[in-house]
Amino acid sequence: MAEIVVLGAGLGGTLMAYEMSDQLRPDDRITLIGNGPTYQFYPSNPWVAVGWRERKEIEVDLTGIMRKKNIRFLTSAAARVDPQGKAVMMQDGTAIPYDYLVIATGPELAFDEIPGLGPSAYTQSICETGHAEAAFAAFEAFCKAPGPIVLGAAQGVSCFGPAYEFAFIIDTELRRRKIRDQVPMTFVTPEPYIGHLGLDGVGDTKSLMESELRNRHIKWITNARIKTVHADRMDVEEVADDGSVKAAHDLPFRYSMMMPPFRGVPAVSGIEGLVNPRGFILADSYQRNPNFPDVFSIGVCVAIPPIGETPVPVGVPKTGFMIESMVTATAHNIGALLRGQEPDIKPTWNAICLADFGDGGVAFVAQPQLPPRNVNWAAEGKWVHLAKVGFEKYFLRKIKAGTSEPFYERYLLKQLKIPKIHHPKHGAKTPQKAG
Ligand SMILES: Cc1cc2nc3c(=O)[nH]c(=O)nc-3n(C[C@H](O)[C@H](O)[C@H](O)COP(=O)(O)OP(=O)(O)OC[C@H]3O[C@@H](n4cnc5c(N)ncnc54)[C@H](O)[C@@H]3O)c2cc1C
Repeated sequence: MAEIVVLGAGLGGTLMAYEMSDQLRPDDRITLIGNGPTYQFYPSNPWVAVGWRERKEIEVDLTGIMRKKNIRFLTSAAARVDPQGKAVMMQDGTAIPYDYLVIATGPELAFDEIPGLGPSAYTQSICETGHAEAAFAAFEAFCKAPGPIVLGAAQGVSCFGPAYEFAFIIDTELRRRKIRDQVPMTFVTPEPYIGHLGLDGVGDTKSLMESELRNRHIKWITNARIKTVHADRMDVEEVADDGSVKAAHDLPFRYSMMMPPFRGVPAVSGIEGLVNPRGFILADSYQRNPNFPDVFSIGVCVAIPPIGETPVPVGVPKTGFMIESMVTATAHNIGALLRGQEPDIKPTWNAICLADFGDGGVAFVAQPQLPPRNVNWAAEGKWVHLAKVGFEKYFLRKIKAGTSEPFYERYLLKQLKIPKIHHPKHGAKTPQKAG
């Protein structure tokens, strides 16, 4: 019998537990360790922050689903991973031993790295659903006494889509409330150009996003480094290509949401050989740690180097579809080990993204996610908003059904020629999952 432990019950970890259960031998067991019983669909957080969704609409209690799928589900956070001892240490001191561990802990939100940043200081956050709820309360108060808004992302951020989405969604909501004319808006980002997204752009996201910002009268500052956030203003440095400070901006605001830098979670930080200096998990092209071969990792917690040098640090995003490709590869690779074979499946890291603007949006496909690419496509339109609403319903239904990739999703992706995994070497056929 083998014990497979999945640490983290977010997007990657939940799907990982589902996909892994198709790979087990009769006596093997999966344990999923979550930070509570509830799954939250983070892509809908921007809607929660303007009152278009309630928290309960995007949450799923996983307890019954995991029981039905025969997955042991522990709902209190782990304290520390012990890769030498092959165990996950819980807060109460108990050890959960593993034969194979999949780390899916997402990021720790590093608000503390910038003075005044974050919901316990002066800026709102949409990175957790609870934060988004608090951001909505602050937004309601703001609408009673409107003024300037500053939105965007801090230096070192590796998740830009939600920052753009939220800027456009807020603009849409302010227009609906007929108070947009009282709100000067500024978008602040460490990206070297608008639409870079940590990916050096996809298709023509530069022109698409710039023109959208211009159409909506949102000013922007790129190559931006936030120095300090005060209760009613933000000190921002604009950095030149040679690293010198080109301009200093003192931006007043009455409402602000800034995406924070990410780092690895405390349960893994500083573990020699497991993580990089920022606490992200080292993984080879099979999602396997090079120093602890029993440890795999998926999702935002995986270490991926930046795409290239930028004047201000900009991280590479790990988007949903890319994470799903890591999940599928990891499930097959651990399955292969259980059957006495070697891991042979590499994820494609393809990215399909829908960035919603409330009344339209931008869709892009980056295949693979990192350039140079075979497919590098972006388009905009009202259909993107509708597609995102449809995707939310579809994804939540998948989570509730305990399914990672139903057959019709697999069929559609095949028709679109957007695979999640590379076919193994030696001409072997890619294994099929039991949906
Ligand atoms: C606001 C927002 C919107 C996004 N929108 C999109 C989008 O539209 N499209 C897209 O492709 N991507 C989007 N993303 C990016 C990405 O898809 C999500 O961040 C996704 O949730 C990442 O999945 P994950 O499994 O890596 O991490 P998470 O979903 O963050 O899950 C990690 C889980 O591990 C838990 N955990 C951490 N430490 C411990 C511990 N010690 N013990 C137990 N549990 C622990 C956490 O509580 C969390 O539940 C968005 C991200 C954000 C923040």
